[in-house]
Amino acid sequence: MDKIDIPKKYNLPNEVKFCKRCVISNQRPRITFDAEQICSACRYFDYKKTIDWKKREEELKTLLDKYRSNNENYDCVVPSSGGKDSAYVAHELKHKFGMNPLTVTWSPLKYTDIGWDNLVNFNDSGFDVIMGMPQGDIKRRLSKQALIEMGDPFQGFIYGQVLFPVTIALKFGIKLIFRGENAEAEYGGSSKSWNKKSLPMEEFKKIWFSNYSLDFWLKKGFTKKELRFFYPPAMEEFKDKKCDSYFYGYFRNWSNHSNFYYASKNTGFKPNNRRTEGTYTKYSSIDDKMDTFHHWFALIKFGHGRCTSNAAREVREGYITREEAIALVHKYDTEFPKLYFKEFLEFIDINEDEFWDIAEKMEKF
Ligand SMILES: [Zn+2]
Repeated sequence: MDKIDIPKKYNLPNEVKFCKRCVISNQRPRITFDAEQICSACRYFDYKKTIDWKKREEELKTLLDKYRSNNENYDCVVPSSGGKDSAYVAHELKHKFGMNPLTVTWSPLKYTDIGWDNLVNFNDSGFDVIMGMPQGDIKRRLSKQALIEMGDPFQGFIYGQVLFPVTIALKFGIKLIFRGENAEAEYGGSSKSWNKKSLPMEEFKKIWFSNYSLDFWLKKGFTKKELRFFYPPAMEEFKDKKCDSYFYGYFRNWSNHSNFYYASKNTGFKPNNRRTEGTYTKYSSIDDKMDTFHHWFALIKFGHGRCTSNAAREVREGYITREEAIALVHKYDTEFPKLYFKEFLEFIDINEDEFWDIAEKMEKF
């Protein structure tokens, strides 16, 4: 297999530098560092402290008043896995702001027991859930192809995760979607994204068609019929319909910690009874057995793993110091995800030698 030039492919700086405030390096795609060597995610956290959140809440109320349903119809879609973040968004929209959300779940590649329990608890706490569960064999082939091409078995999953809630919104005639935080701002993108509140349909279409071309996958041997859940017929329906996606994190002061406590109290969310491999946390992205491989491949491509992302975030939120974060990264960041390795190989349908061949092709260092 030909080795992929990761720095070139992702436009990474030659010299590796670490943020002086958190633990992230400049090898995270799209992150920027300023003259004081502070990363854009840390700067966004400074900026967040200056935001008038009361005013943002008023802005949210004005938006909701425009869409609120006064009959039995749903008035917004919340893409939801049953995890703490989406549970917080859906519950607050319903109980604090009197909305009638329809929650839409894109099923993980392979459910963990705790992930399934949390979804059921969320459902029990008073939410209608529509689940998209594409055919397993296609999901697996797509994951395999994405792993070989991009070093990320999750790429296929992401198509559905982004597009399926839009499809359902269009089918139900719902014009408003609430996603969680604006990841580009929270985890380190350009400062242009800091005040971004929504992804209007026009922009959504542009991103979708340019970055995630259907043709690419058709050339890899998939048929349109097989990909209907990933590139559903609703693509045609996009033409005249309007359905805007808003970031809930623009309106409300987003915190993973607070969302965890909120969801534990209100929607029966439970953390795992053990930490996730490759990090020290027990409550983030715990619903998919294959998830640790997405993070492990990021580690070998960019040199930072899941622990770095988690610890950087907690330094910014003020829960741990930079020194504590560095110790955690040394301890957990490069841990190989053994727990579901065999299941991963079976799921992707490769043997161990093929796995290491792919890893070698993607490895940056
Ligand atoms: Zn930083």
